[in-house]
Amino acid sequence: MTTAPPPTIDPETSVTYADVEAAALRLAGNAHPTPVLTSNTVNQRTGSQVFFKCENFQRAGAFKFRGAYNALAQLSDAQKRQGVIAFSSGNHAQAIALAGQILHIPTTIVMPSDAPSVKQTATRDYGAEVILYDRLTTQREALAQQIAHDRHLTLIPPYDHPYIIAGQGTATKELIEAVGALDFLLVCCGGGGLLSGSAIAAHALAPNCQVIGVEPKRADDATRSFYSRALQTVHNPDTIADGARTPSLGKYTFPLILHYVSDMVTVSESAILRSMFFLWERLKIVVEPTGALAAAALLEGVVHYPNARIGVILSGGNIDLKQAGKLLNKAQERRKKADSAPLARELS
Ligand SMILES: *Cc1c(COP(=O)(O)O)cnc(C)c1O
Repeated sequence: MTTAPPPTIDPETSVTYADVEAAALRLAGNAHPTPVLTSNTVNQRTGSQVFFKCENFQRAGAFKFRGAYNALAQLSDAQKRQGVIAFSSGNHAQAIALAGQILHIPTTIVMPSDAPSVKQTATRDYGAEVILYDRLTTQREALAQQIAHDRHLTLIPPYDHPYIIAGQGTATKELIEAVGALDFLLVCCGGGGLLSGSAIAAHALAPNCQVIGVEPKRADDATRSFYSRALQTVHNPDTIADGARTPSLGKYTFPLILHYVSDMVTVSESAILRSMFFLWERLKIVVEPTGALAAAALLEGVVHYPNARIGVILSGGNIDLKQAGKLLNKAQERRKKADSAPLARELS
């Protein structure tokens, strides 16, 4: 018996920069062109010029609105009438719900019962029907597929779809058009929709720009996949970066990342926390743990690129402030215990 390698989707043709440009036209007037912030403190600390692309200010609080709107806008009239379903731990859900509201498409969202309450509430407020499941016992994709089948809904995946990837790429298109070519671009990675879309846009607009993916150490499947060139999976990773708890890269995103991304790095839970609070205190902006991943790689010295122009995507800002307070207390307790440890090592 012989086994054939799995069919791989050609990264040169599956999603192109032309798709990102088409997505940008669809999004014009519907998505926010988000601000780019700079910080003298960060520039001094890194010896570089750093540009933060603030997708925490995107509609529904994260870049996900870009892909969601781009996907829903391209459905047939019949699909739009029947409605769509999505499974998501939060931001994709809100994005689909809001895009559905704008485009008058009914939305159903399958969400883990432990998703932050702000995300559940916001999703319902945008008019979606929310169906909760237990993420320890239920395969969310199978559940969503069953409901989609029973109710004739179109399933919109959170990252592994050409329309989603092209939509996510528009953030980097905006960033480079606003500030000029970059030497490096740091992008967080869950299922890799944002990272692959960003890398396609960077490759077209700043061909010398190296795109670096950043993951939590505790959910390092994409980094391991990148280095082994074979798809690696992680099951229910325990990380505060809930947007990066995805089990693996996808059939579109994995080949795109292998093709366009220069490197992948990981950051610790405490590095994520410290960076999140740094962004709150110094840049005065609310960024959620997953949103701080890319910044953490730079601020914590996981990557070191002196004298460079560096883009950092702050991917989202949806955090329950009560939960954030608890995280801060926990971090401070651990800091006291490890008083004599060097700053960068105080938590691990
Ligand atoms: C979804 C999400 C991510 C991860 O995006 P992928 O396209 O799955 O890699 C990162 N940050 C935030 C805030 C998100 O909502």
